[in-house]
Amino acid sequence: MGKDSMKREELRESLGAYLDLIDEAEAVIASTTYQPKEHDLSTIIDVLAPPPLDLDSIEGANLRVLQAMVESCTKCRLYEGRTMTVFGEGSVPARVMVIGEGPGAEEDRSGRPFVGRAGEYLDTWLKSIHLERGKGVYIANIVKCRPPNNRDPQNDERAACMPYLKRQIQLVKPQLILLLGRTAAQVLLETDEGVGALRGRYHRYEGIPTVVTYHPAAVLRNTDTLRRPVWEDLKRVAAFLGIDLGRRS
Ligand code: SF4
Repeated sequence: MGKDSMKREELRESLGAYLDLIDEAEAVIASTTYQPKEHDLSTIIDVLAPPPLDLDSIEGANLRVLQAMVESCTKCRLYEGRTMTVFGEGSVPARVMVIGEGPGAEEDRSGRPFVGRAGEYLDTWLKSIHLERGKGVYIANIVKCRPPNNRDPQNDERAACMPYLKRQIQLVKPQLILLLGRTAAQVLLETDEGVGALRGRYHRYEGIPTVVTYHPAAVLRNTDTLRRPVWEDLKRVAAFLGIDLGRRS
């Protein structure tokens, strides 16, 4: 066993012993809240003693390495037109991982997901269920580079980028995934069905409960029809996470 691996194993044993000893429902270690009886220790160990970097393996990458891989990626034609890659950002581990389709013009300029009008609207959705980006929420997209003229990412582009997202989800460890729009839903759930048919129930991605709703940009274009179903979907997210929304209906 290498030096790094030994350090990680020692840390796992020490933390395990510490969490067994304390008589608390929760412990805060390095800004992350752990429930000793329920949480595995891999996230905190990744923070305190990052695994050795493997610049060639997506499967072995931590988030820092994964982001570096994305920033230099040329696996599909979308790299040609990008200003910046948009890797994703937020809390790790996350209560909710929000996944959209791909960067638009403002995201491409800033390198951040869901900025601009649709992003601001998404923030109000999160606020309505007492969540906030960066506070228990992680936001990412199916493709990390902007498709030209905001067209849908094509099948080969989705397939090329999906391994990054797959690994990102493993590392972010969300309690629930919220998929925004048809492309995100179809790619992750491997279906041809539209949002109308997929929303209104829980799905699972790799065992993680998953909710589908409309993309904020689509709701902004058709508020009268889509706002109500989105609110129902957000209530489903809140219910799963045990968030008390009071008497609002
Ligand atoms: S969209 Fe994804 S696969 Fe394509 S170049 Fe960008 S990072 Fe690479």
